Parts: sequence; C-alpha cells; structure tokens
Amino acid sequence: MDRDSHEFGFELRSCRWAERHWPPTGERRDATAIVVSRQLGTKRRRWDTIVIECDRDALERRARFGVDRLDSDLLHIVQHAPAGWAYYRDALPDPGYPWRYVREAIHRADERGILDTRKDSNRIQIRRKWPYPDWVDRIVAIENKPDLDRSAARTLGHQLEYDVAMGLADEVWVATRETDECVEPILFEDLPVEAGVLALDPQALIAEVVWHPRSLAVDDPGTRILDRPGGGDRDDSAARFEFVVPAAKADKRLAIAERAYERGFRSFVETMRPDCRHFRLCGRTGNQLGPHCGAKRRSQTAAECSGSCPDFEPEPPAWRTRGWPIEGGPGKRCRQLLEERRRRQRPGQ
Ligand code: SF4
Repeated sequence: MDRDSHEFGFELRSCRWAERHWPPTGERRDATAIVVSRQLGTKRRRWDTIVIECDRDALERRARFGVDRLDSDLLHIVQHAPAGWAYYRDALPDPGYPWRYVREAIHRADERGILDTRKDSNRIQIRRKWPYPDWVDRIVAIENKPDLDRSAARTLGHQLEYDVAMGLADEVWVATRETDECVEPILFEDLPVEAGVLALDPQALIAEVVWHPRSLAVDDPGTRILDRPGGGDRDDSAARFEFVVPAAKADKRLAIAERAYERGFRSFVETMRPDCRHFRLCGRTGNQLGPHCGAKRRSQTAAECSGSCPDFEPEPPAWRTRGWPIEGGPGKRCRQLLEERRRRQRPGQ
C-alpha cells in the first residue's frame, strides 16, 4: 500500500504541504506565521487539518507562556491579570463558576511560572508577568478526502454545511487527491459553495486551488445544526438547531488555537506505538518524517498501530540499555525527533 493512499498518510502530507506552502494563493507575508495541527475541533465536529494564521510577533510573545496549551481557566487568568498587585477577586471578572476553581487555576499558573502571586493577610494577590497577546489572525479548517465516493461525499456535505452555519473557522476547504481529469470529479458533488477545494499531489507536495472558498462570518452568531431530517416520503420532521453567541465562538476559537499550538501535527506518534520494534520513522520528499511499519512493510495507519495490533512486539530491553542510538531506545528517539521538528516550527522557541 502506498503511504499516501490511506487517509491518514494523505492527512500528514496535507499538513506538511500547509506548513510549507500556505496560503494556497499568493505569498505568505513575513509578518505571518503558521501553526498546523490535525484532528482538532469541538465536541461535535473534528477537523482533519487546522491551519492557524498568526501574527508572528504576537506568536513569539505567546511563546513566553510555554509550549503547553492554556486551558479556559488559565486563559481567564492571564487575559485579565492586572499589571500591579491586586486581590484576585477584585482583579478578575466573575468567572460564572465557583471561585475555588479560579484559585486552583491561579496555583497552576504560578507553578507554570506564567503569573506572579503572593499572600497578603491570607488573601491571594496576583500580578501578570506579561500581557497575553492577541496572536490568532485566522483559523482555517481542511477536510482531507483523497478519494471521495458517493456516500463519503454525502457525509462530507453535511459536515461542511455544519461548518458554514457555525462559522467557527474563517475558511473551510476540502483537500482531495489530484486526478488526470480536466475537471476534478469533486466539483460534481453537492458541497456548499462556501467551501474551497484543493487538488493535492501528495508526492510532489503541490496543490492547485480548483474552487475558491468564501470567508465565513466568525464574528456573527453561529447556527449549530443539532439534527436534520433523514428525508424520504415518510419523514416530515424539522431540522433542530441552536444559536451560538459570538463570545462563545471566540472562546472556542482560542481554545482550538491553543491546542493546535501545543500539539502541532507531528504528535501522531503519541497515538501510535513507537515502542514497537517494527516502528520506524522514514524520511521522504519535503524532508518529512512519516511512520513506517517493518512488519507490514508499508506505512501503517494510526488505527492499526496500537497495542491490539497482531504484529506488535515491544522493543527489546537491550535496545534501551545500550542507549540506542542516543538514549532511551528507538521509541523515545522517535518522539524526540518529532518534538525537535515541532519546536523548530514555533517562533520564539
Ligand atoms: S507491528 Fe503493529 S504496532 Fe508495531 S509498528 Fe507495525 S503497526 Fe505499529
């Protein structure tokens, strides 16, 4: 099996292409930095590839807060912490949940070294170390569909309708495998006109825009589609939906961006078994490291590469004791390699 033939392999190539070549039209401005991640979203909707377009200077200032994401409790604190010492209940807006959770988050922020704290007559006072920067310019979601059959197109159409109605991402795209047809077959599918289409050659890492997207209204209230009628002669049911206020969308967007910043797209190794003796990282076009299975003699998917894999064999303890090739055995070295590459892509680190 070709390593790009399954959706997982195609997705890694799509991420790599975005990291190197985004945006698909025009040049990337010097002031813009890109953070690429995968398999992120909300409870109801998970995107394959996420591209965060960032202000480069602001992203470097974000780096002072560390590589780990700031969850909503920490964000509440670092976004509102005062420049001078103040009692935390006076300084922070009412969180809408018990203050004891805020206190716990203050202790976590203090341990991470991203907030100054002190006690004054048994009262916790806080002071910010740095202002939390406005580092996210745009969020772009890409669905990867190397081969789109009729039923996959129907599902994809529903997913994109959901994205367009919600307006959580600034743009949504579908990346499909480039074909030899003069009109890409995906254009005959019933997809929302707001979604852009990219024809990607995963080997050469070249993509062509075959349909331009429309910008979505991220600052307007969103419509969350909860249920839609199945259709047919006997189905008169109505679609169910709810509105989402802009402030909730803004919070969700920042939460997604923070997770993308933490994970990048090379974190695939965390859901695979690099501690298996058959696991390899192989270089390829574009200097990208991808997973390869020595037992299967091909690129394995993330779903295959788990503890339930029939070919799984733990790496022999001798590999670790001999410090192969540096320290900790191949599994650990794979993780280090990917982490180093992830770090290189983050300005300010
Ligand atoms: S044998 Fe199974 S667990 Fe081991 S690397 Fe291959 S796919 Fe992964």
